[in-house]
This record gives sequence, structure tokens and C-alpha cells, in this order.
Amino acid sequence: MPLVELTELTRAELEDALSEAGLERYRARQVFQWVYRRGVTNFDLMTDLSAAHRHALAGQFRVTSLPIARRDESEDGTQKFLLTLQDGRHIESVFIPDTPNQTFCVSTQVGCAMGCAFCLTATMGLVRNLTPGEIVGQVRVLAEALDVREARFNIVFMGMGEPLHNYDSTMAAVRILTDTHGLAVHPRRITLSTVGLVPAIERLANEPVMPNLAVSLHATTDEQRAALVPVNKKYGIKQIIDACRSFPLAKRSRITFEYVLLAGVNDSPEDARRLAGLVRGLRAKVNLIPLNPAAGIPFERPSDGRIDDFGRILADHDVVVSVRKSRGRDIRAACGQLAVEGLKKSAAQRLADAF
Ligand code: SAH
Repeated sequence: MPLVELTELTRAELEDALSEAGLERYRARQVFQWVYRRGVTNFDLMTDLSAAHRHALAGQFRVTSLPIARRDESEDGTQKFLLTLQDGRHIESVFIPDTPNQTFCVSTQVGCAMGCAFCLTATMGLVRNLTPGEIVGQVRVLAEALDVREARFNIVFMGMGEPLHNYDSTMAAVRILTDTHGLAVHPRRITLSTVGLVPAIERLANEPVMPNLAVSLHATTDEQRAALVPVNKKYGIKQIIDACRSFPLAKRSRITFEYVLLAGVNDSPEDARRLAGLVRGLRAKVNLIPLNPAAGIPFERPSDGRIDDFGRILADHDVVVSVRKSRGRDIRAACGQLAVEGLKKSAAQRLADAF
């Protein structure tokens, strides 16, 4: 019998698996505490379980890690991690120390199928979906490496991939991350950012445990948006806004609309006024993201003055607006800059490997 990957299971699923293996269901709580709170993945070290139980667990389950292939630190304190998956593929995850909270930006897919014109991840295409264990594993591994497991942190599904295009794994990851016996991240500390897959937003609206919603809008007319975000041909702006209008919001929370600012493309005063009109009456905030340029991305970042003007028009229309500070640009960790090519080994690494 192959071992079951424990980190792929929600606690409810682990309870079922344990009971099938002849163990008490409540042991799942102990196991969750060891794995997620204390970072212990070796069953032998789970000392509040009897030797017989530890042995039984080790015979049924395994806990695989995501080895850190590379770690870069930006001059602004942001850190980017390149993690190796079981099949040898790689993903990137980012730690931002002060936004003002500590934030983990995690990936939900290897690559992405959405093809947004200004995003570097899009150039990879979709390689594959991540599993729940691989999504949660990014938080587990980074929290361990940074020694912040005890601290409060936020999680944003804003790394590589479209989370709603990998719906089931993403939501299973949310259930594992928020489990009170595990990392116990409050759902309101988790934000899911989507390109606007309307049926999935409607499905999300009925989830018992729901993260905050951010929608990547980026344009104010369907024509303009379809040129930047191809999936707009399927789900247009009106459909997205309608889905947002019926989305249930917790008290005091708002839907975030992300808007990447591209010089001369979507940054005019008319765009700002149209954007204000689109979100009117919604409990919304607009997060302006000045483009993070990358080689091969055929757009430019607007001037600071232009960005300020755009923001001011929104504010004048009573829209809550913020400008996203670009973090970790020097290590290519900023929004839209995550992409993994074949791992090229440094000369030093090749030399080290030779011994
Ligand atoms: N697929 C999801 C999650 C990605 S989140 C989504 O589209 O929302 C990353 C955010 O960064 C999205 O709003 C995305 O549109 C934005 N982004 C992508 N490329 C960018 C770039 N080059 N500069 C700035 N923001 C970018």
C-alpha cells in the first residue's frame, strides 16, 4: 500500500483516514497540531501519541516537504522562495514582511492559463494545478524557514496561477489553513485574487469558509479589457460587477478591485471616471498597481504624476483607493513577475555538485 500524503487532507478527511486505519478520529487534531503548529513532520517525534500509534501512522502516511531550491532577499526585506515540487517542477512564493502585516503570497498553479497581456507568469502557460498540500505547503515551509509560525500573518493567493481555475484545491487549502487545530489563520486574513471567473465567484459566494475577494479588473470597457485579459470575452465587465454585487460580505469588509496601470493604455482621466462609475454603490476598494515591467512585456509604467491623478479622481468620486507599493522588484518578486524557467545551476553549484 502506498503511503497517503497527509498534507493533502483536510482535518475531516484525516479523521476518516484515521478511523479506517483503526485509530481514533480525534487523533487528527493532535496530528494537525504537530504538523502545522509545531512544524514536526516526523511521526516519531509526536510524543503525545503512543509508540504504537506513531508506528501505525508512519505505516499509513507520509509528510513530504517542498525543498527550498533558492531564496532571494530584496533590499526592501521582501523574500522570494523557489520551491521544488515532488515532480521536480518549481513554483515561487513571496514573503512580504510589512504590508503592514506579514504576508505570504502563494501560488495556486504552476504557470497560468489566463494569458493576461502584462503578466510574466502568463508566458509560461498552464503547466499544472497545485494540490491542496502544495498550496498549504508554501505557507508551512516559508513560516518554518522564516520562523514566524507563531506570528500573525496574512495570506494572499496572488502568486502564480488563477486560484478559481483550480477551485477545489484552493478551497481545500483554505480549509486546511484556517483549521483551528492547525495554522488557524482567520479567513479574513486570507485574500483570493481572481481574474473574474464568474461561475466560480458565484460558487465561492456559497462557501462556509470564505476568504476575502479581490478581482483583477484592469480596464473599464469590454473592448479594452478583452485586449488585456482574454477571458473577458467569456465573462464581461457587467457580469463580473453583477457577481460582485451579489457577493456576501462580512461586516466592514469590502471587495478589492485591482487595477494595473499601463501608460497610455488604461490610465486616462476618463478611465478613472468610468472605473468610479463601475464600482459605485459597491462596498469596494480599488487597489492601483502601477505596472511592474519585465522583459518581453510590451507596456510601460505611467509616471508618478499620472498615477496620482488617477487615484485622485477616484477619491474625488468617493472611491476608497490605494496604490500598491511595488515590493521586491529587484529580485523579480513583484506582482506579475513570477515565472520559473528550467533551473539553471550556478557555476558554484555545479562545482559543489561535482564533489
Ligand atoms: N490570477 C489572479 C491572481 C494573480 S494576482 C488574478 O489575476 O487576480 C496578481 C495581481 O498582479 C493581479 O491583479 C495581476 O493582474 C497583477 N499583475 C500581473 N502582472 C502584473 C505586472 N506586470 N505588474 C503589476 N501587476 C501585475
